[in-house]
Amino acid sequence: MRPNCISRQLLSWLLLILILAARPAWPGEQIVDAATVTTEPLPLSRVVAILEDPTQALTLADVRSPGLAARFTSDPSAGNALAMGFTRSAFWLRLDLRNSTDAPLTRLLVVENPRISHVELHYPDAHGDYRSIITGSDAPPGNKAYPNRNFVFPLTLPAQTEQVLYLRVQSSIGLLVPLQLWPVKAFHAYERDDYTGKAWYFGIAAAMMLFNLMLLIALRDRIYLLYVVFVGCTASALAVKNGLAPEWTIAGLPLNSNVVYYSGVSLALGALLLFARHMMQTRRILPRLDWLLRGLIVLYLLSLPAYILALPQFSRAGIMLNFATAVIILIGAIVSACKRQRSAFFFLAAFALLMLGGAMTSLRALGIVPTNMFTVDGLQLGSAMEMLVLAFALADRFNVMRRDKVRVQEELIQAQQQLVENLKTSEHELELRVAQRTDELRELNSQLEALSLTDPLTGIANRRHFDQTLEQEWNRARRTGQPLALAVMDVDWFKRYNDHYGHPAGDVCLQRIAEALSTSACRSSDLVARYGGEEFVLLCPATDLAGIQAMTHKLLQAVQALDLPHAQSSIGHVTLSIGVAALTPGRQDSPQTLYEQADSALYEAKKQGRNRVASG
Ligand code: GH3
Ligand code: MG
Ligand code: MG
Repeated sequence: MRPNCISRQLLSWLLLILILAARPAWPGEQIVDAATVTTEPLPLSRVVAILEDPTQALTLADVRSPGLAARFTSDPSAGNALAMGFTRSAFWLRLDLRNSTDAPLTRLLVVENPRISHVELHYPDAHGDYRSIITGSDAPPGNKAYPNRNFVFPLTLPAQTEQVLYLRVQSSIGLLVPLQLWPVKAFHAYERDDYTGKAWYFGIAAAMMLFNLMLLIALRDRIYLLYVVFVGCTASALAVKNGLAPEWTIAGLPLNSNVVYYSGVSLALGALLLFARHMMQTRRILPRLDWLLRGLIVLYLLSLPAYILALPQFSRAGIMLNFATAVIILIGAIVSACKRQRSAFFFLAAFALLMLGGAMTSLRALGIVPTNMFTVDGLQLGSAMEMLVLAFALADRFNVMRRDKVRVQEELIQAQQQLVENLKTSEHELELRVAQRTDELRELNSQLEALSLTDPLTGIANRRHFDQTLEQEWNRARRTGQPLALAVMDVDWFKRYNDHYGHPAGDVCLQRIAEALSTSACRSSDLVARYGGEEFVLLCPATDLAGIQAMTHKLLQAVQALDLPHAQSSIGHVTLSIGVAALTPGRQDSPQTLYEQADSALYEAKKQGRNRVASG
């Protein structure tokens, strides 16, 4: 097996090569009667005689010389195309044509591969002299004998004649020569269908590019740009491959179609790799594969100068690189799909369709599958399906992203609602706690206030309470013009009591007296307070002197009724001396005046012998 077998395998041409490698001994070539080619094309691969010229230097005269003419061989087992593989040799094909009719015939000799670098037809004129048409993908487009994407040579065969045609082919890339003889009408019908099929493909590609360009502008997502570059490069490469762009130039210089084709494929696959990385998120999900894909992208960039400078040397390596890329993307897509990466399924489907289309085209060239609309343009069909599936993958990605966005928004709204709920709850709790604390404080305040106004020993109002009430009642009395009465009460001989019974007993005595005084004060507006030491006061609003006198007599009796023994008193039990005064507040007076009057009355009561009421 020859060393370039693997690359041929990669080109799906292995079967052809195997057929060629196993070809039997050449039997003699056949003469083709053009009169039999009336409705269908006649494949010529099995009937032409072939001579390989590794030197590329043989001329028409050389190959017609008897020595070399005998070395032509034919291959009756060839398929629809002669596959020479990656060879730099030139090949001479000899075709014996006959017109067995009595009228001249016109037929078309068609080489259905627009990428053969050099194609030369040598045919005899009416005098038997050979004329040449020199064309090929590396020749200027005007050199074509017939304006078609493939190489088409109109042949005129005079009545009852035989002629020998020589076709020389040579290419800087793989050499595949599908050679047919066509009846003119049938060819024109085929030509229309052929161009219509191509137009459909380029129409789809243009529509996908324009649509995704609009998406790029609208959504500003880099992935649409990658898709557009991928589709643009693929369509351009296929245009060149199909011989639809022979007049393309750069800066006025004609392009070598094979260099452009290989470069276009490199750019298309490079863009596809970038697209695949982005879609399958390989950097995140399959980092090792991602490095591999990056390496391939670098190789594709390097392949561009390599093709421009030395395509014949690099064309085989290029095909291997393309094949390796397809395998790696397929494996990557399978692994990604196993990891439930959604877009990987689309990649698998897209690639399967592309490969199926490519395989169909190759198998048709080999004559293994029949020629029909699916197999003739299999690669284009596969490529169009691939573009559509990948566009669908983009739409799906958009959908997934939109769903994710909606989900995130819903989660955000839920979180916000939860937050608002929490805030409301804590605000409510805070309000409750503040209210509770305020109540407690209010309670404490009122307790404090009560404490600040209460005498701790006796539990009745203290001096401060009395002073405040006196002030208020004084003002009220001044406003209302009613009298305000005050009694100042002092326990008699209390120092002696303490001395005799002890200070704690004195405290108890004071408590008993306070209790008796406060329970005996009959009106709620009256105030009994401990003024200090063993001195008490009774403030009676709206009470005159007689009123307070009457009340204080009751208090004297109440204390007497306690019957607290006082061994050091001449009376024998604890008694009070009371000084009373009543005053209707005038402009000159002050609360102090009332107190002083009552206090001096108390002094009088003491002087008069104690246990009595004296008036001021
Ligand atoms: P008089 O009849 O003239 O009022 O004689 P007195 O002994 O009652 O008067 P004095 O002002 O000389 O004595 C008052 C006494 O009251 C002195 C003090 O020990 C006593 N005392 C004042 N406050 C308290 C108290 O809170 N508890 C007790 N146990 N004794 C008190
Ligand atoms: Mg006193
Ligand atoms: Mg006293």
